[in-house]
Amino acid sequence: MKLDGRHTLVIGLGKSGVAAAALLRSRGAAVITADDQARADRKVVPEALSGVDLVVVSPGVPLSLPIFGEARRRGIELVGEVELASRFIEEPIVGITGTNGKSTTTALCGHLLSTAGLRVFVGGNLGNALSNRVLAGGKLDATVCELSSYQLESIVTLRCAAATVLNVTPDHLDRYDSLDSYAAAKERIFLNQRAGDAAVLNARDARVAAMRTREGVKRVMFDPRTALGDLKLSLRAATLRGAHNAENSSAACLLARHLGVTDLQRGLDTYPGLPHRLEPVRVIDGVEWINDSKATNVDSVEKSLSAFESGVIIIMGGRGKGAPYTALKPLLQAKAKAILTIGEDAEKIAAELGPVQPCGTLPNAVSKAREIARKGDVVLLSPACASYDQFRNFEDRGDQFKALVRGLR
Ligand code: ADP
Repeated sequence: MKLDGRHTLVIGLGKSGVAAAALLRSRGAAVITADDQARADRKVVPEALSGVDLVVVSPGVPLSLPIFGEARRRGIELVGEVELASRFIEEPIVGITGTNGKSTTTALCGHLLSTAGLRVFVGGNLGNALSNRVLAGGKLDATVCELSSYQLESIVTLRCAAATVLNVTPDHLDRYDSLDSYAAAKERIFLNQRAGDAAVLNARDARVAAMRTREGVKRVMFDPRTALGDLKLSLRAATLRGAHNAENSSAACLLARHLGVTDLQRGLDTYPGLPHRLEPVRVIDGVEWINDSKATNVDSVEKSLSAFESGVIIIMGGRGKGAPYTALKPLLQAKAKAILTIGEDAEKIAAELGPVQPCGTLPNAVSKAREIARKGDVVLLSPACASYDQFRNFEDRGDQFKALVRGLR
């Protein structure tokens, strides 16, 4: 793709948009940017597009905005940030999507590859924008890229030498009109694969197992309950507890294997984990404190709870996403010693899961947990809710939890 002398408009100036603008400039393109959706949507449309021959869109910006329709009508080329970056990447791309487990699988796959001695870039939707891979230059053996359904909507030629869809469950239905159209966006990860590439598919997710792949693509179906055993691997790291991490690990191992890595156990045993996902914080008087702030939906909490036997003191609540909490009832009855609630949705949680101990705020919940926890118990912050009612984001919530726990005496 030739960028020299082109007139480009970058819409959405989050991390990806800023990186895309830098990439475009580094290749000689003139760049203008627009961040205010309302402005891009209305007044700016005609002026912003005039003289522009390439529009680059950040993943956070919905493609339903009128400016994109207008760009199409005028025949202006329109690409997403990952699509743009992928055109300058020569090493094989490993693509990872799914409703839950993307970041874990991406980080773990990167770790498996680098432990085996490969030079890798790990990024995409997770942390480091793909454009930064291009800006960094140099030769690598693989790029491991987390892809959200938003990013996949705007790919055109992006090809994954190995790709997986981990699972599809209801989330983001604010942006999609049905689970089918959400799944269809995810299926796009396989769109440009070629003969000999690998599609790693979760056999226990019917929607995923039915996804179509190109002719000649190797369909690697895995059962998350048995795949690691079949590969003669075992999961021992505290950072990969729970059935959901067996799913993530199976996919990561199968992707890494397609890139030629055979010694996978060493990487599995040394995976450092990601913050806010079942992150061990501290053990106090035989009580383990765990930060799972990233569990912002009911499905995630279900997975997290499955990683423990009993004696769980769970801190839940925040800004609810509308899904019923009742799905958690059997697991909570089996495993939870107490439910401590915080935030906006506390009453709904009590109504659906009661009895609970209402704590209002996170500091109160931490004090309460300290008071009632006994040796062998686990205190788990796994809210099933978004954080925006009381925190900047889930990272802020997790960081505050860790600070509170570290301050306990
Ligand atoms: P994503 O990047 O897709 O949001 P993460 O790896 O960051 O996924 O995990 C987010 C949360 O989702 C975790 O805290 C965990 O509770 C839950 N989770 C992780 N993997 C899975 C999975 N395979 N299936 C269901 N839930 C999962």
